[in-house]
Formats: sequence, structure tokens, C-alpha cells
Amino acid sequence: MRKFLVFSLAVILFLGAAFRASLEFEKPQDLTIEFLTKSLMQNSARAFPSPDALQIFMCGTGGPIGNSGRAQACIAVITPEHFYLVDVGAGSTANLQKSGLPMDRLKGIFITHFHSDHIAEIYEANLISWVAGRSEQLNLFGPKGIRTLVKSINETYSFDRGYRTKHHGEDLLPSNLGLIADKKIRPGKQIIDGELVVTPYLADHNPAHPAVGYRFDYRGRSVVISGDGNINQQTKLISNSTDILFHDALSRGLVSNLEHAARDLGLDRLSKIFFDIQDYHASTTAISVMARDIDVKLVVFYHLVPATDAYLGEREFKRNMPENFLISKERQWYILPSGEEEIKIIGD
Ligand SMILES: [Zn+2]
Ligand SMILES: [Zn+2]
Repeated sequence: MRKFLVFSLAVILFLGAAFRASLEFEKPQDLTIEFLTKSLMQNSARAFPSPDALQIFMCGTGGPIGNSGRAQACIAVITPEHFYLVDVGAGSTANLQKSGLPMDRLKGIFITHFHSDHIAEIYEANLISWVAGRSEQLNLFGPKGIRTLVKSINETYSFDRGYRTKHHGEDLLPSNLGLIADKKIRPGKQIIDGELVVTPYLADHNPAHPAVGYRFDYRGRSVVISGDGNINQQTKLISNSTDILFHDALSRGLVSNLEHAARDLGLDRLSKIFFDIQDYHASTTAISVMARDIDVKLVVFYHLVPATDAYLGEREFKRNMPENFLISKERQWYILPSGEEEIKIIGD
């Protein structure tokens, strides 16, 4: 048996080496490229699975500070009838495409506030979904200021839209569907789309004001997505009786370390920035303390400040973390089947 295993391993290694060597020649290169291209296309052509569930996809779990593989803030909320994003920071649309999300179904983006790490790829999301065949205008929901933002994005990219419609034709890329529509929201005023109810709430992220977070309810399941901000009374009220709270999380240990290291090296500007950001994000401790008093099944840290995926960095975020807490990972799924209690996590 052992001899057979050794022989099989040797054959596999030999074939692997022979295949790698053959890729130095054009014909094997062409055949391999043809095969891989077809496989990738088959993946995109496959229908996106739509279980009767509220599905959450982590398209961006980092923030503006940190050197990691995490994209900036973005969470997708998907049901059989809906596909929305909450924020769309830098790097997030690449995650949407890598995971084959059904961009033609994208109905809108809920913006929490206008810091760049939450809005950087609005036009990319608009463009990708337009090209994929979205049948209605993309709605951009957000607090006061959303109209100005949408107007300026539509103006900035007017040349881009023009070239694309001219190149591919009005039938394939209708001009009106390239324009983004603005939808102003008000904290407390629900947006109802069939069985999906979205409740915006006021977040404490001064001087970024107004900033909001959103609660999504669908067929008995619910999640809250914070955007950015300190824990306040609103966070507590809105997160009570929910399945998952996704909250931005700041590690005081890591950020104060950055602040002091910068100061010791004479990098005063950087040191001041690390000092300043500590007052407008929820610390890991503040979130843990708040969650003790409410009924929430799972709390997931995202928008990590600083963004890290290093072992030691994540250990620091996990210090004194309650059992029902997790640190999110890029391209991770949280699936909440309708009418059940279960939370399936894929990609951990
Ligand atoms: Zn942010
Ligand atoms: Zn912010």
C-alpha cells in the first residue's frame, strides 16, 4: 500500500512538472487559455443561487487606515427579490465581481455618510451593473447631501457614459440607465420594498453629520449595519431583537500604539491623525459592553480601525471578545434562512 502511494505521488509530481514545462510553448498556452476562459464564462453564466433567506455578503471589511487585504466598507444585502449594497468603498467592487454576484439585479446603494472610504466606488458599481443589464436606474439612498453627491457623480462621468452608449448602442446601454437616481432618507422613516423593510437610524460620527446606519428586516430575520460611529442610544434600540449587528470597530490598543510610534519618530501629523480618529468610532470594548444589555444573536466587527488581517492584529481585536462576537473576513457570507433561527457562515 505504502509503495503504491509513493508511486502515485511520484506520477502526480511528474505529470505536474511536465504540464508546467509544456506551458513554455505557444500551442499548450493557447489550449490552456481557451479552457480557463470557458470555465470562467461558465461560472458567470450560472444562475445565482437564491434561497429563501436574507443573505449578507462582506464586500469590504476594512477602513481607510491600515495595510491589509481588506477592501473599504461595503456589505451586500440579498434576498430572492432584492440586491442592495450598504456603502461601496475602494476595492469593494472587485470583491463583488470575484464572487460572481448578480450585478444586473442591483437595485440600489444605501450610503451611511460621505467619507471617501464609503463612497469611493459608487460609479464603478453603477457602471458594472449597467453593463450587466440592470433594467432600472440605480438608486442611491442617503442622508441630507445625497442630492449634491449624485448630481456631481452624474456630471463627472457624463463623458464616460456617452462614450459607452455610443460604442455599444442605445439598446445595449440605454443612456437613462447610466444615470444614478438620488433618494434622500430620514432617520426613523422606513423604506419598504416588498417584504424588505429598511430602517435608517442616526449614528454618532461627528463631524460627519448626518451619518446613519441601517436595519434590514426580511421575513422574520434582521441585521443592523452601522456604517461608522460611536455607540449611542440609537444603536442600542435598533440592534435589540436582531440576528446580527455588523459594527465598525476600533482597537484602542492598536491605534494608540500607532499614535505613540508616530510621535516617537517625530511624525507629528500622523500622530495627530491617529489621536483624532479615536473619538468617532466605536471601540471593541464599547460594543461588547453595549451588547450585554440587548438581545442580539451575533455581533460581527467590520470596518476594522486599523484594517488588519495579520495574526497579532486580529488577536488584539479579539481580546475580551464575548463568545457571540466574530471578526468578519473578506468575501464572507452570512445566510439567514427565512423563519428559522440558524445563521450559516460561509468563508470563515
Ligand atoms: Zn469609514
Ligand atoms: Zn466615516
